[in-house]
Amino acid sequence: MSSIKKDLVLAELKKILANLRDKDLSSNAIKNLLVFGNEIEIDLIIKNPTLQYKKKVEDVITKSLIEIFTDCGKIKINFNILKKEDLPKIKGDQIPGVKNIFAIASGKGGVGKSTVTANIAVALSELGHKVGVIDADIYGPSMHLMFDLVDAVPRAVEFEGKRRMSPPENYGVKVLSIGFFTDAQQAVVWRGPMASKALNQLLWDAHWGEIDYLLVDLPPGTGDIHLSLVQSIPLTGAVVVSTPQDIALADVKKGVNMFQMPSIDVPVIGLIENMSYFSPKELPENKYYIFGKSGVKNLSEKMNIEFLGEIPIVQSVREAADAGRPAVLQDNTPISNTFMNLASKIDHQIKKRNVNLPPTKKVDITHKKGCS
Ligand code: ADP
Repeated sequence: MSSIKKDLVLAELKKILANLRDKDLSSNAIKNLLVFGNEIEIDLIIKNPTLQYKKKVEDVITKSLIEIFTDCGKIKINFNILKKEDLPKIKGDQIPGVKNIFAIASGKGGVGKSTVTANIAVALSELGHKVGVIDADIYGPSMHLMFDLVDAVPRAVEFEGKRRMSPPENYGVKVLSIGFFTDAQQAVVWRGPMASKALNQLLWDAHWGEIDYLLVDLPPGTGDIHLSLVQSIPLTGAVVVSTPQDIALADVKKGVNMFQMPSIDVPVIGLIENMSYFSPKELPENKYYIFGKSGVKNLSEKMNIEFLGEIPIVQSVREAADAGRPAVLQDNTPISNTFMNLASKIDHQIKKRNVNLPPTKKVDITHKKGCS
């Protein structure tokens, strides 16, 4: 008896599900796959609980797998019915038309959080999603610069009888920034409630239209202001960016802990390592690990959080940011591919979360504000 390779089964299973053309049975429906020798066990998430539907899906999968893996033994399919409480838990009211809001956070400043936000936003748009960005970094709003929208002014539009702001758009991404409304000197001295009020206005007083992914570029750090900000918006998840340097990693832990606090309870979608290494043009095979090697990757393994990928130090990333045209727009360069891959991973992780969110932690009401 030869043993079957799990990754081959997974790849074939994804194809079989895609061929079914059932929108509820995308590859995200695969909750788990086990292969023991030549036996296969699949956990599938389905919405339709009828026996007839289960039988149909079971028949198609079993027949197709037996055709491909001719020496395959027993195939077992376990069906998990998607329950309402398994759907993404979005705190507060949802913003009409906005499907997912995720925060990009960092423990320390200067690790490239805003640069990564801008590139991921454009990459998600290139992947065909409708994307918006909110710049909530009161210490140094930069999205209007990175999207070449320095002179843009949000237009007022009438929507459902109310006046709303229409976010300026560039590279297929709608952008609203605290930088459009306040002078930078003033915003820096804001406290949590002021900053959350401003952020809420950007969220609720805008006419976003249809948005698949709204990215919120948070200020660096994990202080009171961040608690107020993340508690006040209906987040689907958070991505944390860091360099691999030890000093930065200590703050990543604090950042992850903040999102995992019972009163916040926002799933951390994954960690991104920025400035992982530098390769000089004349020696492209050489990698210099200026801030240390694989620090974020190792931390993500320790904390059991998805590692989304690494971004090297590349001069054109900085130049592109300064020029207001994110580097991901370069035509098929290694760095543009890096950002495209990161965006695909985030897209995949968010979809996975939305199909199969781990059991929600019980919120301990003694942690909530106003309770003693
Ligand atoms: P943060 O938002 O964390 O404060 P920024 O995105 O403003 O950080 O980035 C800090 C500086 O580093 C900027 O000058 C930016 O252009 C540069 N930078 C960020 N990521 C990279 C990278 N991968 N390669 C080269 N320069 C980068």
